[in-house]
Amino acid sequence: MKTITDVPRGECSQCWHHAHASRQAHAHLAPREDCPDCVDHLHNGHPTNLIAK
Ligand SMILES: [Zn+2]
Ligand SMILES: [Zn+2]
Repeated sequence: MKTITDVPRGECSQCWHHAHASRQAHAHLAPREDCPDCVDHLHNGHPTNLIAK
């Protein structure tokens, strides 16, 4: 069984997981509400330690 934890190289693992793997990461948000974690990355960039190598 293929796990969905394999983040493509160069992708931010947090954003990738939020977008593809763990929809429940946004389940607590209202439909138009922004995810603080994703917004933080959007404005400040993705921490290099989260970028898949
Ligand atoms: Zn990110
Ligand atoms: Zn998010």
